[in-house]
Amino acid sequence: MTRLYVIIAAIAWSLTSVAYTVVIDAGHGGRDAGALGLVTKEKHINLAVALALGKMITDNCPDVKVIYTRKTDVFVELNERAAIANRAKADLFISIHTNSTASGLKGTSANGTETYTLGMHRANDNLAVAKRENSVIMLEKNYEQKYEGFDPRKSESYIIFELMQDRNMASSVNLARLIQNQFRQTARRIDKGVYQAGFLVLRQTSMPSVLIELGYINNANEEVFLNSRDGQQKMAQSIFNAFIQYRKK
Ligand SMILES: [Zn+2]
Repeated sequence: MTRLYVIIAAIAWSLTSVAYTVVIDAGHGGRDAGALGLVTKEKHINLAVALALGKMITDNCPDVKVIYTRKTDVFVELNERAAIANRAKADLFISIHTNSTASGLKGTSANGTETYTLGMHRANDNLAVAKRENSVIMLEKNYEQKYEGFDPRKSESYIIFELMQDRNMASSVNLARLIQNQFRQTARRIDKGVYQAGFLVLRQTSMPSVLIELGYINNANEEVFLNSRDGQQKMAQSIFNAFIQYRKK
């Protein structure tokens, strides 16, 4: 009887001890490769960093539950990525991507990291990145119906983001700044700053959320760094450090 009590108490404790849920979203996957480098694909970099980050959180934060939108090379619709976070009533959503210049031409000198939050403020300045990341919905069936007529290629579609007052904006921007600081200090990357843009995947989440661009895959140096184990660990470590700082506030 006593033993049963102990077991029940242990189960109850383990259930209540998860105080925080974070969803880690590795961008693209499966038939959606994302941006292309000389020899590698964005989807693989995103997944490697997402899994490394999730492992660091799981290993070091017993009170945090980590949920991945994908753990393998599979296609997941943008809608579903946000829905996974909403269903889990997650506290935080971190989407991981790798950048490319709009032309996608190899050998670019563009480099550095950026972190985005959903936003209306100056969203037009960052239309190219948002358009590229949103265009994956065109690989989904009936995307016009699912996304209420949203056409990722049309600038007019983005007006909705200017009207949105995101109540999670302050928290999201705070985390974004911490991540960028860490990329600079811990991973020694170029910090290109925090921006707002109209990312569909962030629009549909109901918790603080950020979208990270780890670097430019069509820059040869960044492509090599982001595909190395050392590079992936440093990027994951930076996001992890920022996550710890964010939770302390
Ligand atoms: Zn991407």
